[in-house]
Amino acid sequence: MKCIYCGNNESKVLDSRSCDESNSIRRRRECLSCGKRFTTYETIETTHILVIKSDESRQEFDAEKLKRGIIRACEKRPVTMSQIDTIVGNIEKELHNSLDQEVRSSRLGELVMDNLKKVDEVSYIRFASVYRKFADLTHFIEFIQEYDNKR
Ligand SMILES: [Zn+2]
Repeated sequence: MKCIYCGNNESKVLDSRSCDESNSIRRRRECLSCGKRFTTYETIETTHILVIKSDESRQEFDAEKLKRGIIRACEKRPVTMSQIDTIVGNIEKELHNSLDQEVRSSRLGELVMDNLKKVDEVSYIRFASVYRKFADLTHFIEFIQEYDNKR
């Protein structure tokens, strides 16, 4: 991090806090050369991932949607919200670690099933049976959302 006063490359971090609203980290720094202080905001760049549907159309990956689908599959099962969050987190990590910026909805479905299987067999079967019928996770999630809206 270059000092804005003297251009020196080395500074020490005096204070670091995350700003929840903006997904960034605010750092108070002191230049090791001139001793002046300045503040930096570092943002974690989130890459956008597109989900390829069975008809080849694309839609932006939406972790919230995915989470809702998993919650539905786990309804009335002894699966905690933190377990669901872990599954979503695992999948997100998997997607962001891959170099592709696109993922087939079928692959996404497999990822959900792999993770769900480890947590709860019944939820897994439930998800797998509905998912296979739709053969497209996006359609499945849309179906779930419509269903939820009608209740
Ligand atoms: Zn400086």
